[in-house]
Amino acid sequence: MTITGLRKSFGGIAAVQGVDITVPKGRIVAIIGPNGSGKTTLFNLITGMIPADEGSVVVDGRELVGLRPDQVYAAGLSRTFQTLELFRPLSLEDHLLIGMQRRSRVGLLAACLGLPRVRREEASLREAVRGVFRRFEDRLTEDRWGDRADSLSYANRRRLEIARAVAAEPKVLLLDEPAAGMNPHERAELTAAIGALRDDGFTILLIEHHMELISSISDHVVALDQGRKIAEGTPREVLEHPRVVEAYLG
Ligand code: ADP
Ligand code: MG
Repeated sequence: MTITGLRKSFGGIAAVQGVDITVPKGRIVAIIGPNGSGKTTLFNLITGMIPADEGSVVVDGRELVGLRPDQVYAAGLSRTFQTLELFRPLSLEDHLLIGMQRRSRVGLLAACLGLPRVRREEASLREAVRGVFRRFEDRLTEDRWGDRADSLSYANRRRLEIARAVAAEPKVLLLDEPAAGMNPHERAELTAAIGALRDDGFTILLIEHHMELISSISDHVVALDQGRKIAEGTPREVLEHPRVVEAYLG
């Protein structure tokens, strides 16, 4: 994914001021920056949730700027949210089946109606669901797959949200503060799960502020401040960069 000159102002606030980021295939790129530096806005621009004023986002040769969120999703981008976005009454398994609609040939309506062609595909979908849950098997255990999403702990709901995004087999997976609200042990587990996704070939753009998570799995780090890129490089180069240190202290 190649982001070039992305720009967005809200009235007088220049939230994203011409940002360039390259996310190579099969790599993890992390975005860091103090509160209000434009990280979530950047995700909203990439996913078409808010229209960009200027700039380009290209995935596999396709321009995404100007597309609606559903078109961006269909083009192969899945995201999670800083604040959880789950369908509370639905089961864990249903969440993953919904996540798989992008790669499924049968529509969501057909799936809900249980049409015959759906049943043919269902066995392979269930197998795929199993495969995704296996990535989080220490926590999203099989006895829980039929439970409602709102029966889960906060940390498990975050895992489910990531699992749903992974189920779509996106070309690029966007994670907005996936470790928010987790304790150090849960964070370490999640770090390993995200690293394993990359090792399996997923391309990941990640917003995080937990430095140990960033340092241990990011291939490349981009630091934003007030909507501009102020540093990029290896985790160490960026975390020690004087402008980054200053942005966090100031
Ligand atoms: P971060 O995720 O890095 O904390 P945000 O992208 O949420 O930062 O916000 C960047 C700036 O843009 C902030 O000044 C914020 O108040 C502003 N902003 C974000 N979204 C909107 C919006 N929908 N309307 C107006 N201002 C917004
Ligand atoms: Mg944010």
